[in-house]
Amino acid sequence: MADNLKIYNTLSGNKEPLKPLVEGRIGMYVCGPTVYSDVHLGNCRTFVSFDIIYRYLLYKGYKIRYVRNITDVGHLEGDTDIGAEDKISKKARLEQLEPMEIAQKYTLGFHRMMDIFNTLSPSIEPRATGHIIEQIEMVKAILDNGYGYEVDGSVYFDTIKFARDKKVYGQLSGRKLEDLLSETRELKKQDEKKHPSDFAIWIKADPSHLMRWSSPWSVGFPGWHLECSAMSTRYLGKHFDIHGGGGDLKFPHHENEVAQNYGACNCAPANYWMHGNMLLMNGKKMSKSDGNSLTPEQLFTGNSPHLSKGYSPMSIRFFMLQSHYRSTLDLTDEALQAAEKGFQRLMEGYRNLLSLKPDEKQVDRDLNSKLESLMHQVFDNLDDDFNTPKALANLFEMVSVINSIKNHQIDSDKLRSDTLQKLQKVFKEVVFDVFGLKEEELSSGEDEVTEKLMDLILQLRQQARTEKNWGMADTIRDALQEAGIVVKDGKEGTAWSVKH
Ligand code: AMP
Ligand code: ZN
Repeated sequence: MADNLKIYNTLSGNKEPLKPLVEGRIGMYVCGPTVYSDVHLGNCRTFVSFDIIYRYLLYKGYKIRYVRNITDVGHLEGDTDIGAEDKISKKARLEQLEPMEIAQKYTLGFHRMMDIFNTLSPSIEPRATGHIIEQIEMVKAILDNGYGYEVDGSVYFDTIKFARDKKVYGQLSGRKLEDLLSETRELKKQDEKKHPSDFAIWIKADPSHLMRWSSPWSVGFPGWHLECSAMSTRYLGKHFDIHGGGGDLKFPHHENEVAQNYGACNCAPANYWMHGNMLLMNGKKMSKSDGNSLTPEQLFTGNSPHLSKGYSPMSIRFFMLQSHYRSTLDLTDEALQAAEKGFQRLMEGYRNLLSLKPDEKQVDRDLNSKLESLMHQVFDNLDDDFNTPKALANLFEMVSVINSIKNHQIDSDKLRSDTLQKLQKVFKEVVFDVFGLKEEELSSGEDEVTEKLMDLILQLRQQARTEKNWGMADTIRDALQEAGIVVKDGKEGTAWSVKH
């Protein structure tokens, strides 16, 4: 399969041609969510980025096994490894629920959000708690190979021995052995570890801990990094093509995954490491623990002080496509408004494209070759490490031509019918199959009749309020809410949106 696709590999710091281990097939592992609370929009950005990557690889004809895990054990508060509480265990304790109830609730919420954003399901979605045996086997292999040591029922990975032997520790994150050796960070229970950079691969649990399993070392639970090593090996083999995740996982999570795989199997897990960049909000990383986060629901309803109105899921997906997956993306109300308009213009361009009927009376070669060249550029840009913003810019150049023909500024008989057919095909495939956008049945500003009806209803509500007829104003608002329409009063008037 001839392919021009180049992928930026965090390991080498370069864009490299994609060479799958087995011709025509790709194994891809992406770190999934920790299901202890609702996903925020930053999490969604990472999964949408990898969805577009997955979709483009599928579009190119690869057979892909896409594995994206669910972390339902082992991810500790603060990412330290001893003394801290497991995030899911803590939530279960606080809410007096079974840990599995917590995991189930937020896994379903995550799936629902992935559906709303029109992302494809992975081929396999393994859970960490379903792979304790594999994780125990991996700890055994690491111990057998001399890269782990046990202290009082917990097992640690020996980073210094590994870094000395293999010379790969730090390759992903750029940390050197000397940096590790000079690290003097204080750790709780540090006396158990030989060195501060060592990390737990099996953690002995005290009897109050809700999630515990028997192992040769203690009743306990696996370290967070271990699950991804164990599950990628289980479903993709010791050595596979692509490993992805958000850029904040490079260290320590991914660096430690590489170490564990070498430690257990003596080989690197993935050929290509891909990292998506962060979603910011008003210039700061979106993060739940810092309180600077927005749930997708808030975005759809506009129910947040950061927003003037609600935005539809596809406007948000379009917003994400407008920046390259390796660039940061700053979410602001203005940027979302622009994305909403852009998405509508793209959809309108597509509808106009479908309505064109060329009669080829005076074919204009320049016009046809301009369109042909734009179609090539779309794929050149996608082949260049999935450059969606540039490919979108190409599509908008096409939209300009399409709209000019539709508005009779350019005669439709200048267009060749085979160019038109190809344009319709490429446009449809890129917008819907690769970018994963879809027409939205009802969204603010899109449906003219609804727009007019809503104007009328909101006027009546305003009139009731002016007349201090609060009962009527509330009845209208409640009826709208029941119909799934959220109304938000702001400085610039009343905005409405459909709850998804
Ligand atoms: P977590 O549930 O914390 O394990 O995170 C799930 C995924 O979301 C990981 O791949 C993170 O790298 C990613 N992530 C977390 N915060 C952001 C953000 N602000 N922007 C983009 N991705 C993020
Ligand atoms: Zn992972």
